[in-house]
Amino acid sequence: MRTLDSTTSLRIAVQKSGRLTDKTLNLLDGIGLKFDDYKRSLLIKCLNFDVELLLIRDDDIPEYVEDGVCDLGFVGANTVAEDEADVTVLRGLGYGVCRLSLAVPKNGNINKPADFAGKKVATSYPVLTRKYFESQGVDVDIITLSGSVEIAPRLEIADAISDLVSTGGTLKANGLEELVNIFDSETQLIQTNKPLSDGKKHLIEKILQRIEGYKKAAESRYIMMNAPQESVPKIKEIIPSLKSPTVMPLADNGMVAIHTVIPLSTFWDVMEQLKEAGATGIVMLPIESMIV
Ligand code: ATP
Ligand code: ZN
Repeated sequence: MRTLDSTTSLRIAVQKSGRLTDKTLNLLDGIGLKFDDYKRSLLIKCLNFDVELLLIRDDDIPEYVEDGVCDLGFVGANTVAEDEADVTVLRGLGYGVCRLSLAVPKNGNINKPADFAGKKVATSYPVLTRKYFESQGVDVDIITLSGSVEIAPRLEIADAISDLVSTGGTLKANGLEELVNIFDSETQLIQTNKPLSDGKKHLIEKILQRIEGYKKAAESRYIMMNAPQESVPKIKEIIPSLKSPTVMPLADNGMVAIHTVIPLSTFWDVMEQLKEAGATGIVMLPIESMIV
């Protein structure tokens, strides 16, 4: 095995243990970066690239990347924005999707942003929450808590909260209702603004291209079907294909097999239309990766 010099390895910050950890490690695995026994250590070497992962709390990731301790980081847009970190967002990754929302006790007297005036709002996101109320010209008392924000109204520490929501289940379980979404978030890949060597830049480019292919593949399906030769022009119209479909003659006279790739979001519509156009034996397969 190659020996890796930690001063030249591309260092990537990943949440040590939390909602983003498994999805990020799965993504890295999906783009072909192999790691050995990552649970054992905080700094783990990649086995097949000059890369190492630093596993830390998500709150620390923007700062580590800003300072250049790490070159890249996988972290929620909410954390980057709360930190007001001076970093470059390379791309959104489509997981860890959530929103920062204002929530209030059900059947209370806060029904619109102006009703918050003079109220106490508990949050772990004071910067984003303050920015929102400033933009509304509403004066509130922000109480910063590090966790379990949703019980603050019941404990009478606050009148309302500003917290991350994905399904809304936690709010409901605590007798709260969501009033205003103040920030939409997803996991982002961020890059340091500190100067990088050409080698690191090249590696980042490669990682980005692989993520692009991985994401495209996750959002696409390979479909195969049989159809009468005369249906081919109609089928070509239906399929919003990336490239023209592959059409192969079958042993059955006048029948062809058609193979192509479609966006997953169009699958059901496309399948119904294909059946109407005469296609049979339609099979859909997941794609592991795509170079486009
Ligand atoms: P750490 O110990 O690393 O500080 P944490 O408790 O702050 O962990 P998690 O609860 O694991 O963090 O959340 C990490 C990120 O997951 C959030 O910053 C956010 O971007 C995203 N996320 C997605 N859905 C939710 C949700 N429903 N609640 C909280 N965070 C969510
Ligand atoms: Zn955290």
